[in-house]
Amino acid sequence: MNQDTARRAPKAVILFGPPGSGKGTQAKLLRQALGVPHISTGDMLRERIGSGDALGVEVQGLMQAGRLVPDEIANRLVEERIARPDCARGLILDGYPRTIAQAEALETRLKEFGFDTVVIHLKVDYTIIIRRIAGRRQCPVCGTLYSLTSNPPKKPDVCDQDGAALAVRDDDQETVIRQRLEAYDRQTRPLLEFFAGSGHPPHEVDGGLETPEAILARIGGLLKLG
Ligand code: ADP
Repeated sequence: MNQDTARRAPKAVILFGPPGSGKGTQAKLLRQALGVPHISTGDMLRERIGSGDALGVEVQGLMQAGRLVPDEIANRLVEERIARPDCARGLILDGYPRTIAQAEALETRLKEFGFDTVVIHLKVDYTIIIRRIAGRRQCPVCGTLYSLTSNPPKKPDVCDQDGAALAVRDDDQETVIRQRLEAYDRQTRPLLEFFAGSGHPPHEVDGGLETPEAILARIGGLLKLG
């Protein structure tokens, strides 16, 4: 690939980090900044639960227990999504890949489509994460995220965008959060080495101490360099 082609290659930005590290918030901000789709396996799986079929029931049970869904399910969802034309100019991945098997499947796909991969690792202390997730609320209609401490809705418990009653995710209770962090440590954190070994060393960004906009500015800086 010559330099010109490399410069024009669409970027696949992988937002990586533990649950509650701010991947979803940053993905939504980045989507606006870059004008490319935001692919969240968590959101796609929650939609699937809404369909109420057998797969939805299985996914719901695993999510509520703070466990990962099987790789084939996550891989299939992402594979189908990436193949859609709106991803041709680039994409943002949030919550995927989460296992080595997912990372391998993704790598094959991204190579096939000629994407330039950039991994952003949002690092946050677990005590901050537990506090953050406990105060998290989401609009069930439009998906907007709120934080009771740093980004509360204008009216308590009501979405600013569409007036819907805000919800707490089933898997945001403290015992489930601990299980999710455990799954992250065991199954997902090892991907940091996988990325480094496959030529995409993660760029570290401090996701704990700053405002979402400050974190976005850091990520923006990295993407221009990347
Ligand atoms: P968070 O990153 O805060 O855990 P997500 O919405 O990304 O939130 O994920 C919520 C849950 O959805 C996970 O705990 C897991 O059960 C399931 N999930 C999401 N993405 C994946 C994935 N790539 N592989 C397996 N399970 C996933």
